[in-house]
Formats: sequence, C-alpha cells, structure tokens
Amino acid sequence: MLLKCAAVLGSPSPFAHRVVFGWCVSSCEPWASGQGFCALCTNLYRLSGLLDMEGALTARDRVGIQDFVLLDETTEAAFLSNLKKRFSNDLIYTYIGTLIVSVNPYKEIDMYNKKQMEIYMGVNFFELPPHIFALADNAYHTMLTEFNNHFILISGESGAGKTEASKKILQYYAVSCPSTTLLNTVRDKMLMSNPVLEAFGNAKTLKNDNSSRFGKYMDIQFDSQGDAVGGHILNYLLEKSRVVHQNHGERNFHIFYQLVEGGSDDLLRQLGLERNCQQYNYLTQGECAIVSSINDRNDWKTVKNALQVIDIDEDSINYLFGIVASVLHLGNVQFDSDSKGQALLNNNHELSWLLGVDAHTLQEGLTFRKIEAKTDQVLSPFTTDHAIYARDALAKAIYGKTFTWLVNRINESMENKVRIRLMWNEKQISHYSHHFILYSKDPSRKTVIGLLDIYGFEVFYVNSFEQFCINYCNEKLQQLFIQLTLKSEQEEYEAEDIEWESVHFFNNKIICDLVEEKHRGIIAILDEECLRPGDATDLTFLERLEEKMGNHPHFVTHKLADKMTRKTLERGDFRLLHYAGEVTYCVVGKKRKNKQSQPKTCFSSVDPDSRRRPETVATQFKSSLLKLTEILMAKEAWYIRCLKSNESKLPGQFDEALIRHQVKYLGLMEHLRVRRAGFAYRRKYEVFLKRYKPLCPATWPHWMGMPADGVEVLVQHLGYMPDEYKMGRTKIFIRHPRTLYATEDAFEK
Ligand code: ATP
Ligand code: MG
Repeated sequence: MLLKCAAVLGSPSPFAHRVVFGWCVSSCEPWASGQGFCALCTNLYRLSGLLDMEGALTARDRVGIQDFVLLDETTEAAFLSNLKKRFSNDLIYTYIGTLIVSVNPYKEIDMYNKKQMEIYMGVNFFELPPHIFALADNAYHTMLTEFNNHFILISGESGAGKTEASKKILQYYAVSCPSTTLLNTVRDKMLMSNPVLEAFGNAKTLKNDNSSRFGKYMDIQFDSQGDAVGGHILNYLLEKSRVVHQNHGERNFHIFYQLVEGGSDDLLRQLGLERNCQQYNYLTQGECAIVSSINDRNDWKTVKNALQVIDIDEDSINYLFGIVASVLHLGNVQFDSDSKGQALLNNNHELSWLLGVDAHTLQEGLTFRKIEAKTDQVLSPFTTDHAIYARDALAKAIYGKTFTWLVNRINESMENKVRIRLMWNEKQISHYSHHFILYSKDPSRKTVIGLLDIYGFEVFYVNSFEQFCINYCNEKLQQLFIQLTLKSEQEEYEAEDIEWESVHFFNNKIICDLVEEKHRGIIAILDEECLRPGDATDLTFLERLEEKMGNHPHFVTHKLADKMTRKTLERGDFRLLHYAGEVTYCVVGKKRKNKQSQPKTCFSSVDPDSRRRPETVATQFKSSLLKLTEILMAKEAWYIRCLKSNESKLPGQFDEALIRHQVKYLGLMEHLRVRRAGFAYRRKYEVFLKRYKPLCPATWPHWMGMPADGVEVLVQHLGYMPDEYKMGRTKIFIRHPRTLYATEDAFEK
C-alpha cells in the first residue's frame, strides 16, 4: 500500500490516486485550490511520511465533504459550513445522494473541458468528485442499461445557474455519446439551438444578465446504441411584455441589441435601422442598452452562424431580421391627439419599414377600431392611449409568433435528421454493418433524456402578471420535486423490503391549489373577471379574490391584513406566501395581460371557430404545465438544485443569509433527512463487495458465492451491529455514515 502511495505522490495528476487506489471513496478533487485529499488518502500520505503528521488538515476539514449524506450532523449550520468550505475551494458541486447542489461561482472554473468530460465517462457516480457530468453520465448509462426515459430537473431562483448547467450537460452529451458524421450534425443542431433561443428568449434583468424569459424543456432522443439521434423542444410562456416595456436596469431580448450592434452596414441600411440603440423606444426604457458582461457584436456572429446550422435558409433569415427590425420601427410609431382626443399618427415614416404590410391598412388598424355591424363595417377612432396599446399589442404578438416559429423550425431541423438517417440506413445498411444492423432491427427504439430549464423564481420591487406566472411555474416544479423525492424514497425502501420512518416536509400543494384550483383558484377567478362582460376591472378582480380567498394562510391583501402587514401593502396589491418567500403582486394590468390581447386579424392562423370561448393566457399556461408534469412523471428524475451565491453577481462571495434562505425553501435539509432517516448509505451488493472485500480474508481476493452472502460475511467480520445495517433485496443499507467511516478506517490498519 505504501509503495503504491509513493508512486502516486510522484504523479502530477491527483486523479492518479483514484486510478491506483481504485477504492478511494471520496476521490480527491484536483481543482480544489488547496489540493484537497480525502481522509483516506491523507492518512496514507501521512503514513508514507511525506505529509506533516501534526500540521496536516484532513481534506474533510479543509474542503468539506462531497456528499451531505455523510455529514456527521444534519443541522443547517453544518450544511452551510460544508457548502461554504467547498465553495471557497472552488468546489461548487456537492451531493445529497444522487442529487446535486450547485452554487453559482460567478467565475469560470476550469472543470468543463474535454479532459474533464473524459474523466467522467462511464465512471460510477460516487467514484469521482461531484460534478454535473457525473449526473449526466449516470442518467445516460442508466437509460441505456435499463432502457427507460429520464429527465434532469434543474431548479433554483433567477441567476442561480440553471441555464449554464443545462448547456454544460448538453455539451457533455455532445462529446461523450458515440458519434458518426451524420449524427454529429444532429448534435450541432442541438447545441446551436441554444444561442438562437437565448438571443430571442433571454434578456438582462436586475437578477441576471442572461435571464431566461421562457421555459424550455428539451428531449434529447437516443437510439438503442446510445447515439443522440434527435431532439425536441417544448417552450413555455415567453415574457412578451418585455418587447414593449423594460423596467429600469433591464433590457429587451438580446436579439434586438445584437442586430443593431452587430448587423453589417448593408443589412442595417436594408432594414432602415441606425447603429444606435438609443434611437429605439423599445430599447431605451431600461436605460442600460450597453452591459459590460454582454458582447452583443460577438453574440450576433454566433447567432448568425447558429441559424445556418439549424437549417434556416438565407431568405428566412432575412425575413427573421426584417421582423426584428419591424418591431423596433413599430416601437417608434408615435401618436398625437386631435382636438376631439382621437389618435393621429404623428409620422408615417416608420410604417414604410414594416415588412409586407400596407402602410395605410396598418395606420387604420392602429388608430381605429373596426366594428362589424350586420351589413357594414364602422370605424370607431381610438384615443391615443388605445392606439399605443394597439401598437404594443401588435409588437408583442409579432414577436411571440416569431419565437414560436423559431422553436418549430429548430424542432424540424433536429427531427429531420432522424428521418434521413432511417432512409439512409435502409439504403446503405450493407456498408455500415454493425452499428446500423443493430439499429435497423428496431429503428423506432428510442429513449430520451429531458432537460428542463425554466425561468427561476423571482421577486422584484413591482411584480406583475409575468412574475405571477413564473413563480407559479416554480411552485409546480417544487411540488413535483416533493412528490417524486418522497415517492422514490418510499418506493426504494418498499422495493428493498426495508422499514422506514417518514420525515415531515412542507408540502406546497396548498399554494399550487390556491393558484390553480378549478373554479376557486386565482387563475379561475382572473379568467372569470376577464371573460365577464361589463364592468370588470383589475380592482373588481382583487375584490373577488378577497371574497373567495378570505383567510387563506398564503394569501393576503391590504384589506385582509393585520395592522403590521397592512403597512407593507398597497391597496391594489395582493401578496402570496410562496414556498420561496413572499411576493407582492400588483393587480394593475393583470386582467389585460391575461386576455389574449392581440390584433387577431393580422394572423392567418386564427381559430375559425370564433364562438369558442377563448382561453386566457394563465389558463393556457396552467394546462401546459399540467402536461409538462405528466411528461416528467413518466420519467426517472435526476435533480440539480442551483443556489445563487450572492445578489451582486460577484465571484467568490458566499452570502450566507441568501444561501440559507435558498437551502430552506428548496427543502434541501428535508431532502437530506429523508435520505438519512432510514439509511444514509446504500450500495448494490456487487459494488460494496468489490470495494471492501480486501478487508476480510474470506472475501479476498475472490468471493465465489452470491454477492449478498459475501457482503453479509464481510460486515459480520467487520463487527457491524445488527441495527447498524439492513440487507435489502439487492442492496446493503447502512444506517449511519460513522459505520462506513469505521470501515474506511480499517483500510489504514
Ligand atoms: P434565470 O432563471 O434568470 O434564467 P439561471 O438560473 O438560468 O437564471 P444562469 O443564466 O444559468 O442562471 O446563470 C447566471 C450567470 O451566472 C451566468 O450568466 C454566468 O455568468 C454565471 N454562472 C452560472 N453558472 C455558472 C458556472 N457553473 N460557472 C461559472 N459561471 C456561472
Ligand atoms: Mg436561465
């Protein structure tokens, strides 16, 4: 052992550790700034006389422990202290069993390169330091061996690192899955869908310079060989209001700035644009067109290239930018008021740049309402406010439709290749014998790994309909997490015939119900008010809420509040006590935003059945989230819980209060307790035996019998007490990590 140790010390790569010792549980982490070694290896180093016996801190002391399940105590203080130790050593990932807790470092850490990817390929989960690659790899291999579908739920508040994590996982699959030339193009398309969707669907907010303003669920489809053969994206409720309005310190969607900053002189001339964001009303409201962390010119190049990769032809690309430019021109359309208060277009120069629309018709559409009588049409003039509203509604609708079109094009492009490949298989099967023959046996055999990256929970000074939808979405995902983690834990114990005691969780179902319950939830009441003819206003909506919600523990308004709370609430607000904290929503505009307020005649794909009651935005969103939940429930879940390290987006800052709050509301302590309530550690008999068999003469070097019997012999030999462990059907369950530490220590003797 000492000889091996000395050999390792000569090695430049701390990973050599793992390779030589093979059985190092916690695996030392090479990117730890303090070069942390696990307790076992540290002791071996000490024994070899090469480490100062007195002065050496163990890796546990210095860089924390890699799996919270193995913490000595499950207090919040111990949890935070471990997280902090790791964070200060650039170890941003820590496990709770197979769940990953990730803390946003706000700086580049060299841990995502190809070399690192290779290290994680095909290696067991706990053999290497915690990493999202380990999770991605294990989801992938489980999918291949068990031939089932998986999804990776990436959650956390705005700016916590969800989108970055999902991109890294996609990159990992792009590198780690087997490749053929044709499939490489599918991969490129999947990878390149990211910059395009981010350009059109992300924006700088006060919370995050690249905040996702839409929800994205992407299925990566694999064939039975493990090749990524296609992908499909579902998108959820884009925050269209951003097109026409941005709060101070926020921007519109990136693509507008990219076009203005990065588009060639020729292109800008063709589109009638000036290279100056300050010229456009839709780009100036937030007063922060230029952001130091964003390079619009470079991003423009990436997006242009990406559009080609995802098969959007030159003409369509030109139309696409034409539409983006049209929205900017539309934003500059201004109205004056005539003596009767009716809206008049103040100049029609901008209208000439609106693609494919007759300027006169558009002018009429923006300043008059068309009332259809039995035989005639009557034009009723708009006030200036109405005209501005119509202009903005048109801009939002155009942008929203364009976004949907883009997602559809990306989907077509990612799916296409699978079809082509099948045709190709049939024709060329004889040339590509092994791979394609296997595939052709059942070409329809496909499994998927879904990646869910949505907009994170957010609270601003003023919270509107958009925040209400975003936070409701997060509430639903938290509910799913609770259901699945409790369920899977219970199922595992049940499947393995192990008794266990349940741990109390805060179940946020009460909040989900408050929002979505049929006839009684906030969405139902909002819909009623939106669809009620007559005198419904935002304030009548609030009154209805007060009537219906009364003394609900998670709902309060100025009228319903006690004296203290009332001071913090305006009359037009209601407050929800979400799982992640209180949010005060302003009802102004909610009714309007919930209606499908778009000038429908502009679009050809209008539902011809106009008698059907139109679905409101919130109801559509609710239905799409219910569908998403069904999609996810049918798959095996993996979790990445992202934590925001500080509000200032600064590297190396560990804001303890902020992190404590997130640890609390994400239910991480409860999750940990559930993992530990019964048995903190579990391993398949084969794995356990392989690792610990050197500790018992009867199992070393080979155990010829059943692995479970070998494990029983081994733990008896180690002196485990009967209440310290349980033998399940396929796994050994160890109640307390100390038992395992003792086993680890046995290596040293
Ligand atoms: P939102 O809900 O607003 O979309 P998000 O959780 O998707 O937020 P990201 O956009 O992934 O947040 O991350 C915000 C920023 O934090 C990134 O732009 C990047 O600067 C930084 N960041 C996140 N994760 C990492 C990481 N693993 N390494 C380095 N920087 C990171
Ligand atoms: Mg995001």
